[in-house]
Amino acid sequence: MNTISIIIPAYNEEDNISLIYESIKKEFTKLAYDFEICFINDASTDNTLEEIKQLAAKTPKVKFISFSRNFGKEAALLAGLQHANDRAVIIMDADLQHPPFLIPKLLKGYEEGFDQVIARRNRNGEPTLKKFLSSAYYRLVNQIVDVKLEDGVGDFRLLSEKAVQAVLSLNEGQRFSKGLFSWIGMNQKIIDYNNVLREHGETKWSFSKLLNYGLDGFISFNNRPLRICFYSGAIVLCLALIYSAITFIQILNNGIDVPGYFTIITAVLILGGIQLVSLGVIGEYIGRIYYETKKRPPYLIQETNFMNGAQYEKNKPRIYQIRHNRGNQYL
Ligand code: UDP
Ligand code: MG
Repeated sequence: MNTISIIIPAYNEEDNISLIYESIKKEFTKLAYDFEICFINDASTDNTLEEIKQLAAKTPKVKFISFSRNFGKEAALLAGLQHANDRAVIIMDADLQHPPFLIPKLLKGYEEGFDQVIARRNRNGEPTLKKFLSSAYYRLVNQIVDVKLEDGVGDFRLLSEKAVQAVLSLNEGQRFSKGLFSWIGMNQKIIDYNNVLREHGETKWSFSKLLNYGLDGFISFNNRPLRICFYSGAIVLCLALIYSAITFIQILNNGIDVPGYFTIITAVLILGGIQLVSLGVIGEYIGRIYYETKKRPPYLIQETNFMNGAQYEKNKPRIYQIRHNRGNQYL
């Protein structure tokens, strides 16, 4: 029987671990596939790891990787994909907002030969302001980036073996998975579902985290934001030149007018603003270069029950290599 790897990043999800395991198990009893769940504990501060370990003690279907500190969901997804071991994977959140009853539909798409079967949610039940802001964001970001980012499409999806390899071949450290999944392309099928609200625990996305994630979307894919700075600078410069030429001619004809406080202050403020924004955009790119040149591993593993060292070695790109004094020998 074919085994599907299910990747679940979990950060402070103690109430959800056994719930999600049970619901996934229930779905697979109806299916002609075996499953293996890979929980990635992103250094939770509650009992998430203990919950996962209890499950792992009961069944070999539960694997886990526990990070040495909180590295974020992107790093957790990467760790999961690297351990998927040439299998098709399903990526889902631990909080049951990605409903397990969609798994049979995802697998049906996989059987039909699709490399990415994507679950797309609507935004039912979300605050109106959030809905409005996100739809405005997606409209704007799609004008700028090369890949298509779609509202409601997140990480909840099935990736075929081929798609997993493709995502892993992109070896940037600063990952924006939503864009990477879109970037690899391949045959895709979309399945729509109704938004589900979180029942246990709380969302880890504060407003500022969301804002930063949004900025990552803009900056991660091309240098068009730098171009926009250049063009807006050029346009402002042209307008300023035309304006000074007109004013100069007027001075020649009519003599010096009363100095215009309003004009000066407006020009200074607008130009100052444009310069600061442009510097910020350039700074963002430089910041990224800075992090990429350090080549730090995207995550460090504290503990795992992936005991098959040979499998691990096979999937492990060089830069993710780490050594521990204690713990598993193969790390
Ligand atoms: N998550 C994680 N590391 C973090 C934050 C979140 O692994 O630093 C996990 C979290 O446990 C959940 C998933 O990422 O399984 C999505 O997080 P959340 O539900 O908070 O996001 P939302 O659904 O509100 O977008
Ligand atoms: Mg959630």
